Amino acid sequence: MKIIIAKDIGFCFGVKRAIKIARDTRKKTDENVWTLGSIIHNPQVVDKLKGEGIVPANDLDEIDSGYVIIRSHGARPEVLQEIKKRGFTVVDATCPLVKRAQEKARKLSNEGYETFVIGDKEHPEIMGIVGQTEGRIQVIDTRCDWSIDEKEKVGLIAQTTQSLETLEKVIQKILPKVKELRVFNTICDVTNRRQKEVKKLARGSDLMIVIGGRKSANTSRLASIAREEGCKTCHIEQAEELKGEWFTPKSKVGVTAGASTPDWIIKEVVSKLEQMDKKEEILHGRRIRSRD
Ligand code: SF4
Repeated sequence: MKIIIAKDIGFCFGVKRAIKIARDTRKKTDENVWTLGSIIHNPQVVDKLKGEGIVPANDLDEIDSGYVIIRSHGARPEVLQEIKKRGFTVVDATCPLVKRAQEKARKLSNEGYETFVIGDKEHPEIMGIVGQTEGRIQVIDTRCDWSIDEKEKVGLIAQTTQSLETLEKVIQKILPKVKELRVFNTICDVTNRRQKEVKKLARGSDLMIVIGGRKSANTSRLASIAREEGCKTCHIEQAEELKGEWFTPKSKVGVTAGASTPDWIIKEVVSKLEQMDKKEEILHGRRIRSRD
């Protein structure tokens, strides 16, 4: 088995920053420290932080006192106001690139553009962006059928984890319908680089292992891109999910991970792959010898 690990892999700076902010808050206070929703879309990291006293709450009603951390995906302004109104302290760990997308959404909307964001309606980042424009921005979910009528002025941004190809396709579809189209490329550089790398890696591999939370948009996107390249792709959260039947001794296995996947999980997966490879070699060797 040949294992090829992506160069750009694991926590992105936005995730590292959010976790550092959470841990720094934990250190500086004896009060309760909460995150509103999972701080990142990785259950193993969320559990680890819970053990350190950084507790996820699904709803503000679960919180009785202390500090509330806004995760890297950001939040709607009403949520921030409500946290303050209830007397808790807000700690904003929104990724600066998500903040940029929020600012661009507000700008376009305030300047009179009928504004659209490409993304997943149910994703917290998109809910935060929509909230920043008091619901004036509309969501284009390219997984469903969508179209727009003829318009004068249209503004367009994208969820930070979208692919450049998707943004380009949407522009091509909108452009003939509008007199003016203003686009801000709000796709994050880390996402962009990793998507390019996974494409290349998938082309040269027999199997792609994509490691990361099942709810992580950027991890799922990496897995879809690898599949679109025609490569058999398995999206796993942990090493235990690897199965021997996926590989042969000659398999070229590409490994990548989402921006919310910690190094320790990546190392466990790679080390399990190496162990499986050794077992395969021994079995294979024995098979050859017994034929002799
Ligand atoms: S993937 Fe990009 S936008 Fe998302 S948290 Fe990381 S750096 Fe920020």
